[in-house]
Amino acid sequence: MAEAKNFIEDIINGELAEGKVSEVHTRFPPEPNGYLHIGHAKSLCLNFGTAEKYGGKCNLFFDDTNPSKEKTEYVEAIERDIRWLGFEWYEIRYASDFFDVIFSLAVKLIKEGKAYVCDLSADEIRETRGTLTEPGKESPYRNRTPEENLELFMQMKQGVFKDGEKVLRAKIDMSSPNINLRDPVIYRVLHAEHHRTGNKWCIYPMYDFAHPICDSMQGVTHSICTLEFEDHRPLYNWVVENTGVEHKPRQIEFARLNITNTVMSKRYLKKLVEDGAVSGWDDPRMPTLAGLRNRGIPPEALKNFCEEIGVAKANSEIEVAYFEHFVRDYLNAEAERTMAVLSPVKVVLTNFPEGKTETLSFDVNPNKPEAGTRPITISREIYIDREDFSVCPPPKYFRLKKDGYVRLKNAYIIKCDDYVTDENGEVTEIRCTYLPQSHSGSDTSGIKCKGTIQWVNAADCVPVTVNKYDYLLKDAEYPGQDFSERMNYDSVHTFRGYAEPYVASAEDGKSFQLMRVGYYKKSTQNGLVLGEIVSLKDGYRPG
Ligand code: ATP
Ligand code: MG
Repeated sequence: MAEAKNFIEDIINGELAEGKVSEVHTRFPPEPNGYLHIGHAKSLCLNFGTAEKYGGKCNLFFDDTNPSKEKTEYVEAIERDIRWLGFEWYEIRYASDFFDVIFSLAVKLIKEGKAYVCDLSADEIRETRGTLTEPGKESPYRNRTPEENLELFMQMKQGVFKDGEKVLRAKIDMSSPNINLRDPVIYRVLHAEHHRTGNKWCIYPMYDFAHPICDSMQGVTHSICTLEFEDHRPLYNWVVENTGVEHKPRQIEFARLNITNTVMSKRYLKKLVEDGAVSGWDDPRMPTLAGLRNRGIPPEALKNFCEEIGVAKANSEIEVAYFEHFVRDYLNAEAERTMAVLSPVKVVLTNFPEGKTETLSFDVNPNKPEAGTRPITISREIYIDREDFSVCPPPKYFRLKKDGYVRLKNAYIIKCDDYVTDENGEVTEIRCTYLPQSHSGSDTSGIKCKGTIQWVNAADCVPVTVNKYDYLLKDAEYPGQDFSERMNYDSVHTFRGYAEPYVASAEDGKSFQLMRVGYYKKSTQNGLVLGEIVSLKDGYRPG
């Protein structure tokens, strides 16, 4: 038997050993009312990963019992995002596939005196439900006969009643300590067009009634959900027992993933899109899977993260830096290195012959020696980053300064002789000599220099737009502060710089390490753009 990595696998191993189950069948159950986000990735990894580990099956199950909020666009996006993570479902099923069965089981409950049609309004139902310390009050409609209930329920189905005029409630126990068992509503009237069943239905089952039945119909053995459904488990079990469904699934709850600086509610993400605060669901700053993909986050890094954080039974918040750590780790091993300067300043190598171009070898990825080298060129004029030159250098400044030395990555050591400024004192040109004997790998110059900087050849570099990103959400100033007050409207920082010509010829969507800058993904929709995936500096401190 497979060794258990978490409490869910402990449960499964126990059941397999006792012969309570003979296979593992899970499902990932999104409601198609928005795009998937990084929290869903946790649930995806758990559902698909567990099935995979036990050689079982995992369905993609669309919980589409809420017709007014659901759209086919979301269904398609969800499928695309799951495939991007590399998961394959056994079957796609929709709650709406089972509307007939769910309806017939409601009828069965009515006939057995276990459900009744209630005329109380939603407010009245809430008011008579009682509290944690007080029992609820029985509805005056609770003792309708099965015959009367059946007739009314059929009329609900036929469209005789308006939205909210009547509901079907399970007849359980108005004084149960668990409020979910105080005659919960299991069907409501809703005259809304459904994205799949159109106008066939004007009554829709409630989640708590539909979900266990759909799980059972699909042969789900373990219905994994988040902790807020723990109190609903007795109702889940009540439905399984009292509808008499043959296959009996089991609900298991785990803790939701929460991440600092990250919004994880579809409702709020949707608001960001609708308000135009972001360019769309796939804006690279969005924590949606579409956003992460667009940003260049490798799916493997996301899966490694989900695996490492494990499966908890208590809610907690994970540092966003911990997620970034996995992204950086993956890209550090995989991404090709390249050079770009974000704030270019010209450097003239005064002793480099005019008109001469020399070809050098650039290490593609020091972590992957098999990746080898590719040619880069240097000539008399190059660009370096403004940040790498200081007019008034602080102590221990190892980048370029007057009379100082610095190494150009994979090229030569240069010495700054002089620089030119404009009327504002801004440096416009730096004049250097290069040391021909200091060629990287065969340096005989005898000069020890501590700094190495990136550069590009002015003769062949390409203009590039570089976008750096901040978090969409600032840290909370106090507990429970609303997301809307934490919005960071200044979260894109754009630079116009230069990159090696290789960047222009590389395929669209390719990820690079821009040396000494960070990990970036190339896109070409708006000219040549490099968008930040993650910075180089690891903010994660294992503690
Ligand atoms: P949201 O609150 O963002 O709308 P949801 O729970 O309503 O999320 P569903 O579409 O119902 O979203 O979720 C599909 C599955 O993903 C559910 O099993 C849900 O429990 C799980 N899930 C959603 N958010 C998280 C999260 N942050 N961490 C782990 N699992 C999650
Ligand atoms: Mg939901």
